[in-house]
Amino acid sequence: MVVIENVSKVFKSGKENLTAVDNVSLTVRRGEIFAIIGYSGAGKSTLVRLINGLESVSEGTLTVAGHRISGQKESALREARQNIGMIFQQFNLMNSRTIAGNIEFPLKVAGWDKAKRRARVQEMLEFVGLGDRAKYYPDQLSGGQKQRVGIARALATSPSLLLADESTSALDPETTQEVLGLLKKVNDELGITVVVITHEMDVVSSIADRVAVMEKGKVVEMGNVYDVFSNPQTDVARRFVSTTV
Ligand code: ATP
Ligand code: MG
Repeated sequence: MVVIENVSKVFKSGKENLTAVDNVSLTVRRGEIFAIIGYSGAGKSTLVRLINGLESVSEGTLTVAGHRISGQKESALREARQNIGMIFQQFNLMNSRTIAGNIEFPLKVAGWDKAKRRARVQEMLEFVGLGDRAKYYPDQLSGGQKQRVGIARALATSPSLLLADESTSALDPETTQEVLGLLKKVNDELGITVVVITHEMDVVSSIADRVAVMEKGKVVEMGNVYDVFSNPQTDVARRFVSTTV
């Protein structure tokens, strides 16, 4: 689903070069939940932004569902991005639009007609358990509900890949479990491949199939969650694993 080969991202600011992602190669398989963990600044968000083409690669190649992402112009990226939904830590909802309006937005951009949009918005609202909230505004919802709207919006156009960047860190533990349950449902019922960045090790062990551990821009360890958690090979993985109960 996602094939990353020898990808690096170097940010240049003045004379300084900062290698945020350092020669990463990995494959996310169709249908799996793939978690990315690591300390702050390890390069997790940058890697996910590269997958979505929000950042351009400095080196290497990257494809999503057979579409080349690396080295593409914005017009080609737009087509490739139809396969990709993304949810953000800060929800990024439009506060001046209703919940329905937020979910409808990507469908308008994709050129759906009004009747089809309406039906799809309602279907998505029901999928995320907000069937009765269509006319509410984002600031009338709880954090968990906002994240549900974010998920509904990201999935409205039926992408095959969902990227979730720390989708839960702004939420309390109970709501976190709820949203993660929803990511699991997205994966189980819709067959959507999920890449999730998280600091919650419980999440990794309860919903992910495989995990990559990042440190200083590199993937230092990667494997089945069970293997990595039961037999971590690096100090950084050991540190994370030991925080689970
Ligand atoms: P966190 O867990 O805190 O979200 P992260 O693993 O997501 O951290 P990134 O946001 O990917 O880390 O950042 C990796 C490194 O790249 C950091 O040193 C960061 O300062 C740097 N970086 C990220 N984006 C930019 C940018 N647009 N310009 C310059 N440097 C950047
Ligand atoms: Mg981040």
